[in-house]
Amino acid sequence: MTVEPVILKDLWEKSGLYFEWSRVRFTEFIGIKECRTCAAFGHTAKDCPDKGKPTCGDCLQPYKEGHLCRVQRCKNCVLANEKFRAGWGVRHSAFDSQCMSYQRQREIIIKRTDYGFKRT
Ligand SMILES: [Zn+2]
Ligand SMILES: [Zn+2]
Ligand SMILES: [Zn+2]
Repeated sequence: MTVEPVILKDLWEKSGLYFEWSRVRFTEFIGIKECRTCAAFGHTAKDCPDKGKPTCGDCLQPYKEGHLCRVQRCKNCVLANEKFRAGWGVRHSAFDSQCMSYQRQREIIIKRTDYGFKRT
């Protein structure tokens, strides 16, 4: 996979500054699949095995209309801690850009992709 370097460099710089709002688009752009229904990596909402019973990406409770999160809990970091004893904090949204699981995914994808410029 090769991405137009100019576009990506621009995006990369912006992502540092406006990472919060651009995260979803940035995530899609660089090719991370993160499901909006169950917050798992590796598939999108369209292919979600939990289709029709969404989980709140912020707290892991079943998502209903008017739902309010009590305690934030990140599904991906909970799983990583169980599987690899990663020891990551879990008190954040699964869609938080500070999420360690997300940052890991991002690194893996970026390493795999030829963006045509060197990162500093
Ligand atoms: Zn899913
Ligand atoms: Zn919630
Ligand atoms: Zn996390």
